[in-house]
Amino acid sequence: MRRKKRRGAWGIPLLLICVMMLTAGCQKTSATPEAASGKINNTTGILLVNAANPLPEDAEPKDLVNLYEMKRHFLLARSDIYLEREAFEAADRMFKQAEDENLNGFILTGGYRSREKQQELFETRQDDTVQAPGCSEHETGLAFDVTARSNTEGFETTPQFAWLSEHCWDYGFILRYPQGKEAITGIAYEPWHYRYVGTEAAAVIRKNSWTLEEYCLLESK
Ligand SMILES: [Zn+2]
Repeated sequence: MRRKKRRGAWGIPLLLICVMMLTAGCQKTSATPEAASGKINNTTGILLVNAANPLPEDAEPKDLVNLYEMKRHFLLARSDIYLEREAFEAADRMFKQAEDENLNGFILTGGYRSREKQQELFETRQDDTVQAPGCSEHETGLAFDVTARSNTEGFETTPQFAWLSEHCWDYGFILRYPQGKEAITGIAYEPWHYRYVGTEAAAVIRKNSWTLEEYCLLESK
């Protein structure tokens, strides 16, 4: 068992000071000027990818699967959506539970992106919603974007979103860019973007209402 870290009243202010003082690794990728763009000394074993913590240039997913070719309990917006096998299997178990509870209609709209694809998106959509190459979680194969068949007024208004908010943690997923945490993640609220971190990290993140940045900073040994 890992010893629980104690944080005093200075914990959060110090975190913000740390992340604001450190240098960013990628250019022009933050949604807000005060975004957490500090390089984090991350020893948690959980992959952290953001503007200041880019993937190494030679990083490659280990075992991508084309979801279109897999038996699965959710829908796809396209036939060329890929995820790492472990993330896919966890997602499929999650959506199967939803289906067992008579909730279906989840549609995955995005998964893995190659660095080349990210570069192309970055060049063609020069705005704050597209991360620089190397700085997008989609390059890990561990994140997906989801919507619902019933989505007419935003995914966050759907029963599918309410269900995921309650259950994603149990399957090792986190809502990666929560509302109110924009200054820490550097990314605007994205109710549709989920990241696989494994059940242990997801439980800690949920319990503390942390972002992945806070987890990697505060749980590092
Ligand atoms: Zn996404």
